[in-house]
Amino acid sequence: LKIPNQPIIPFIVGDGIGRDISKPAQRVLDAAVEKAYGSSRKLVWKEVLAGEKAFKATGQHLPDETIASFKEYLVGIKGPLETPVGGGIRSLNVALRQTLDLYVCLRPVRWFKGVPSPIRYPSMVDMHIFRENTEDIYAGIEFMTGEENTTRFRDFLVQEMGVSSEIRFPESSSFGVKPISKEGSERLVRAAIHYAIKRNLPSVTLVHKGNIMKFTEGAFKTWSYDLAESEFTNQVFTWRQYQQIEQDKGQLDAQKALEEAKKSGKVVVQDVITDAFLQDSLLHPFNHSVIATMNLNGDYISDQLAAMVGGIGISPGANINYQSGYAIFEATHGTAPTIAGTGKANPSSLILSGVMMLEYLGWDEAAEHVFDAMEHTFAKRRVTSDLHAMMESSTLMSTAEFADEIIRNIH
Ligand code: NAD
Repeated sequence: LKIPNQPIIPFIVGDGIGRDISKPAQRVLDAAVEKAYGSSRKLVWKEVLAGEKAFKATGQHLPDETIASFKEYLVGIKGPLETPVGGGIRSLNVALRQTLDLYVCLRPVRWFKGVPSPIRYPSMVDMHIFRENTEDIYAGIEFMTGEENTTRFRDFLVQEMGVSSEIRFPESSSFGVKPISKEGSERLVRAAIHYAIKRNLPSVTLVHKGNIMKFTEGAFKTWSYDLAESEFTNQVFTWRQYQQIEQDKGQLDAQKALEEAKKSGKVVVQDVITDAFLQDSLLHPFNHSVIATMNLNGDYISDQLAAMVGGIGISPGANINYQSGYAIFEATHGTAPTIAGTGKANPSSLILSGVMMLEYLGWDEAAEHVFDAMEHTFAKRRVTSDLHAMMESSTLMSTAEFADEIIRNIH
């Protein structure tokens, strides 16, 4: 990306606590940029509308000008948006991701010393989730057959699609369609492997439920291994290759091959069934580094892993299309309406999403300043209300005070 010294950054304030965390997060990022580059670089914030504020001003929840701004300036950031009830809109977030084809939802999961965690060794958590963002049941194709259509639909499945006539098919059933494509799987996994190689990370775990959903999640696994072995031949060693060697025993020692792959710096691409992953990531978080998975699995996994390091209040995220360069960084939590306007909201998720944005711009020094200052703030046990109750002898801070403390630590 060619980044000007003063990039225009479109931002959506968001609904609910979005209004509480936006300004504090911008103040922190501005302070870090100034500390790193003086007046030679600057983020130029440009508010664009979405959600309730947009609806009041334009009659649309996601106005065309907002989409146009993200396209024009490539990199933007957003607070949480309330999903409007009724009106045919499923979710503004899903609409934004689909309109800009932001096919990767990237969520790094790292623990800050001092933050309460339900697991015994949180310092061993260093995971990076690559969740496919445009397919799966999020395509929104769901329907009830209704009594009179049930038989027609059943006949169609049996006669046209080769589904077994033994199928149990009660009247008035409801259905959802789960599209998973080769292209969609490949571009996600390609991005995940590139990321692992660039950051020297040891493995990519493909998480799927292919033992049950053979033609969707099972195909994801096959396509992913095919891509890894053909496009990254000298850079990865796959679990599938390992199993092949195991089967051909006598010729080669599989365990040795795996050890050697690790020693030579190859990224190990492995796969795990979703339920086993959910357990293993809690018990042995060090087994997993980059995680590549489909949309719904990614949704569940993101919140579980976030809970291991302090919750969604401090977990950042980004939606990225690595081909067009479009990227929207976002708080991973929702609008938390019950605490909106009370000064209780934790701005860390949005601030850390801003850190990811600075890295994406290549402004690594500024990113490090924020990260170090946050580390320092948590180590001094200064926290907002979500963490205060769980953290002994911590100092309670409001949203703005917490941001001020980080800025002090930057300086
Ligand atoms: P939520 O994330 O808003 O709240 C879940 C819980 O976490 C609540 O107890 C809340 O008080 C707490 N919480 C969340 N963020 C916090 C923060 N930064 N600091 C302190 N506490 C925090 O989830 P929800 O209640 O399921 O959803 C509320 C609304 O947000 C819905 O309209 C939903 O559609 C929307 N939503 C938006 C996004 C997004 O924009 N990316 C994501 C999830 C939900």
